[in-house]
Amino acid sequence: MANWLEGKVVENRRLNQYLTSLIIEVDLGGYESGQFVRIGLRDGDEVVARPYSLVSTAQENHLEVYFNIVEEGPLSPRLFALAAGDEVLVSSRPSGFLTVSEVPPAKHLWMMATGTGIGPFLSILKSDEAWRKFDNLILCHSVSYAEELAYQDLIEQIAERCGERFRYVPVVTRESFDGGLGKRFPSIMRDGSLERFSGFEINADDSHVMMCGSTDMITDVSAALVERGMKKHRRRDPGHFTTEKYH
Ligand SMILES: Cc1cc2nc3c(=O)[nH]c(=O)nc-3n(C[C@H](O)[C@H](O)[C@H](O)COP(=O)(O)OP(=O)(O)OC[C@H]3O[C@@H](n4cnc5c(N)ncnc54)[C@H](O)[C@@H]3O)c2cc1C
Repeated sequence: MANWLEGKVVENRRLNQYLTSLIIEVDLGGYESGQFVRIGLRDGDEVVARPYSLVSTAQENHLEVYFNIVEEGPLSPRLFALAAGDEVLVSSRPSGFLTVSEVPPAKHLWMMATGTGIGPFLSILKSDEAWRKFDNLILCHSVSYAEELAYQDLIEQIAERCGERFRYVPVVTRESFDGGLGKRFPSIMRDGSLERFSGFEINADDSHVMMCGSTDMITDVSAALVERGMKKHRRRDPGHFTTEKYH
């Protein structure tokens, strides 16, 4: 059974009618960038809860999660409706292995996200650990529509601070878009456009790839990486890619 901490919503920062960032005041203590907590709401005597990755870092005062409404879902529409001052429950133990400490040494860290899967990578990019461990960090964010390219201000700040060591690759798949690429990850990996756009190669010698988001993306990108001689990373059998499936 989860041990619930009582938190309070500080802000519900909506990006549009189905995407939002919830800022929560709660006394969680330490966690690693890339980890998730379970967030819950009371439902009579029960708690309805789901895992959410943390966008914030342990050094920040508040927790932040980024999510979309799943219309038929029991929790996400209720979380979306919360306002400042509302109660929210947070599991006391952050968990998950999509963290820099789990990744073996590599020169380039690729972070490939669909939709709200960008959340844990923003936490990693804000942390010092990733910049100490890798030479270059490449954030690839695939969304359907350009308005879903969230956290542009933060990404600009990271780009200014980290210069040539950071690359941002926005990918918009369902409308035309001038500032990035326009096809799904497996296609832009196989046709070479992802590497041309970013200026870095993805290979087994010096790259590690973290993926977060939909199962379809993770399955297809994993297959494209295997074609390049890369394999899934396991603690006991080090490899080249690490994954977190949201749905
Ligand atoms: C480790 C982990 C971390 C997660 N972190 C995040 C996060 O940071 N942000 C986030 O938006 N979601 C995240 N999720 C998904 C999240 O836990 C919920 O499943 C989601 O918010 C829907 O909750 P729900 O109760 O409304 O519906 P659920 O009962 O959980 O799901 C209903 C249906 O929607 C599908 N679904 C779940 N998530 C999504 C989604 N994002 N988009 C489309 N369909 C979905 C489910 O597969 C299921 O078929 C994470 C999941 C896992 C396993």
